[in-house]
Amino acid sequence: MSKLTILVAGAGGFIGGHLVESLLKQGHRVRAVDKKPQWQWYQRFHEAENLTLNLEDKQACIQAVNGTDWIYNLAADMGGMGFIELNKGLCMLSVLINTHLLMAARHCGAQRLFYASSACVYAGYKQKTTDNPGLKEEDAYPADPEDGYGWEKLFSERMCRHFREDFKLETRVARYHNVYGPNGTYDGGREKAPAAICRKVIAAKMGGTKEIEIWGDGLQTRSFMYINDCLKGTQAIMNSGILQPINLGSAEMVSINQLVDIVEDIAGIKLKRNYNLSAPKGVRGRSSDNTLIKELLQWEPSITLREGLEKTYAWIYDQMKSGSSKDDVVNKF
Ligand code: NAD
Repeated sequence: MSKLTILVAGAGGFIGGHLVESLLKQGHRVRAVDKKPQWQWYQRFHEAENLTLNLEDKQACIQAVNGTDWIYNLAADMGGMGFIELNKGLCMLSVLINTHLLMAARHCGAQRLFYASSACVYAGYKQKTTDNPGLKEEDAYPADPEDGYGWEKLFSERMCRHFREDFKLETRVARYHNVYGPNGTYDGGREKAPAAICRKVIAAKMGGTKEIEIWGDGLQTRSFMYINDCLKGTQAIMNSGILQPINLGSAEMVSINQLVDIVEDIAGIKLKRNYNLSAPKGVRGRSSDNTLIKELLQWEPSITLREGLEKTYAWIYDQMKSGSSKDDVVNKF
């Protein structure tokens, strides 16, 4: 494949940082952009052109996009349930990022834009039981997405579609289902279940408390995709001719209690579980139906939840043991 100049928006975040690394390894020129000061980026690579810009601003988007061939939009104000249930306005403001990136892509003549959508676009009435058979792409309509965050994602998906249809900008959209792995958020309030459970189990082990707080009754179900699978799938979708939003997630559904079982097993500890029924817990059951992506891209996650959690647990353990926090950027110079 020819070498491209590629913008990664949200490069200071979890998935963005890993994507920059992957694109650089393939020999592409990468412009990495995030609104956070660079010392707060989870990963930073000296081979990339690193810029700090707030992409809610249209001029900043033009500066970021100018001279690039492809754009991966991974920038959003987001987090786990604890964040998105309490910050709906902030989540919706991410619409400015995608809107201005699409406008800048059109203005600057970029060829292709990838948008990171979410399983949170799926209708709430399809996710009321723990035995969810897996959400198919058509389950996003009639629309009843997650309030705030999910509506922004659904609206931005439509923006991508109409920019493609009306302005001939090539757009690709993946609906990510819970991505986890090293170099991601594990504390501070934006972390998602796998990282939060790892952190809590490690804290209980280090502190000798032998207890863990679980949000909800632990019976709610989810599926989790390891970062390496996410990277492969994201780039396969970007390289493909797939025009409709498509699931990118794991179909290995577990309850939160089962997730805790695995992490306890990795840690070699058993903890007393305290269920906090008033904490944010999201939908009752959610998993990815991968029929379409298997058929179109022959893509399936290759890393089991157990394998992925071992790597994630080890990374979070090292961070906590060395006393580093998310503010200690990993410099890849
Ligand atoms: P993240 O929070 O680690 O990264 C997002 C990055 O975007 C952050 O570094 C943040 O500073 C940056 N950002 C926010 N507002 C910005 C702005 N105005 N200008 C420039 N940068 C800005 O999140 P992530 O887990 O890497 O997620 C990446 C994308 O994938 C997001 O769009 C997210 O909604 C989507 N997604 C992620 C998951 C998941 O499980 N991680 C699931 C579904 C969808």
